[in-house]
Amino acid sequence: MLYTSTRDNSIRVTAAQAIAQGISEEGGLFVPVEMPQFSMDKISSMVSMSYIDRAKTVLKEFLTDFTEEELNYCVEGAYAAEKFSSSKIAPTVNVCGNKNILELWHGPTCAFKDMALQLLPYLMTVSAKKTADGKTIVILVATSGDTGKAALEGFKNVENTKILVFYPVDGVSPMQKLQMTTQEGDNVAVCAINGNFDDAQSAVKSIFTNAQIKAQLAEKNMMFSSANSINWGRLVPQIVYYFSTYCDMLDMGKINPGEEINVVVPTGNFGNILAGYYAKQMGLPIKTLVCASNSNNVLTDFLKTGTYDRNRAFYTTTSPSMDILISSNLERLLYHMSGEDDKLISDLMNKLSAEGKYTVSDELIAKIQKTFDAGYTSEENVDATIKSHFDEYNYLCDTHTAVAVKVYDEYVKSTGDDIPAVIDSTASPYKFSASVLDAVTGGNKPELDEFEMVDELNRVTGADVPKPLASLKDKEVRFTDVCDKEDMSQMVFKLLNL
Ligand SMILES: *Cc1c(COP(=O)(O)O)cnc(C)c1O
Repeated sequence: MLYTSTRDNSIRVTAAQAIAQGISEEGGLFVPVEMPQFSMDKISSMVSMSYIDRAKTVLKEFLTDFTEEELNYCVEGAYAAEKFSSSKIAPTVNVCGNKNILELWHGPTCAFKDMALQLLPYLMTVSAKKTADGKTIVILVATSGDTGKAALEGFKNVENTKILVFYPVDGVSPMQKLQMTTQEGDNVAVCAINGNFDDAQSAVKSIFTNAQIKAQLAEKNMMFSSANSINWGRLVPQIVYYFSTYCDMLDMGKINPGEEINVVVPTGNFGNILAGYYAKQMGLPIKTLVCASNSNNVLTDFLKTGTYDRNRAFYTTTSPSMDILISSNLERLLYHMSGEDDKLISDLMNKLSAEGKYTVSDELIAKIQKTFDAGYTSEENVDATIKSHFDEYNYLCDTHTAVAVKVYDEYVKSTGDDIPAVIDSTASPYKFSASVLDAVTGGNKPELDEFEMVDELNRVTGADVPKPLASLKDKEVRFTDVCDKEDMSQMVFKLLNL
């Protein structure tokens, strides 16, 4: 299996090169040149497997340059039982009728990012051994919350790696901040910056591309890499859970072999839903992929009209991980759907960075609409959805999941398409305790600190508190550095002891 770039499809690299490098030199994203095919017999044979064996079965088709021993080492390390609060790793839960929820937040940081970021460090260190002759990989992350913590937890104490995370000093939730500042591990560092997420992100990008800094790192046998979802190594682990949920639906007797399902995804950077598209292309019987957004509905508009326009107001919502106006992974979908037209993709992406918008042909958007539907919802609906699902079905979901549940309900209402469906649940409700408690109490949340809020949500709902969040209360704060965005590169040197 080889990989090419969305902006130059004459390029060919191995999986290890794609993962170690992160992004192609000319700015394109790495994509597989062909799609492995899974017959229904093969899918049925995965029903009796553990999550780890399902993962090996899917991943070995994409990581053909990894030996069996390497793949076993990676997958068994990533999804080890003690790291996940569910023995199924990503369980599928029936809410009612054909409405099922795929819980992707049982990992160590209680958000779906763990599904990929537990595996990525393994894939990256094995890839670096193959392609980067033993250099220490320095992962730089700018985060608005979930990615930073999941990356820290994934890379902590991983040999030959260091990880530095920058977060906006006032831009993350109290729980997210504590998760990061109490991070354990010998190769980790965390720093707040005076600025917002965009400031952190821009500074990180300029450090990445600074030739002088790169040279100084190279002298010490170090190189930068990236842990965000432009990296193929973060996308490929996500394909697995679509196969896994289909197997669990078969196992639960919710579907028969070959029967189609719909999939609904609360979307930000378009990574999660794109993994669902890859699963469909591989032969998994998915009918429609429904892209769910909050008030930042740039993707809804694109999927309905063919025009992507980021020139619009940015809303801060109660589902912050979906507050995003540039969805990087859409580039990969456009590449595949346009018949691998790298010139078109370069053109569209240049337009996006110059004018903030582009429009695709009627033919192309019509083709995309055969597989994708989209919807968005407002904050009041999110609260009402959390409350109604808790009251009616005793199912507690977080704010991001609630966006998807509401968009799915509207989808069924307007299309009548109520075949068995899986809705991705991307975070534990306890990661957003204040919003969730406010929703279930009908807006009557008491004034409490973060941990009292967790206890109160537990008292009101009876839902289990994830151990990794409960235990934060007793952890020592290790990182208190705050710097200005102009000083971030100096901070990188300081944190790396250069
Ligand atoms: C990152 C994230 C999303 C968005 O996922 P994408 O793959 O970026 O579309 C949704 N919900 C939560 C809780 C997240 O952390």
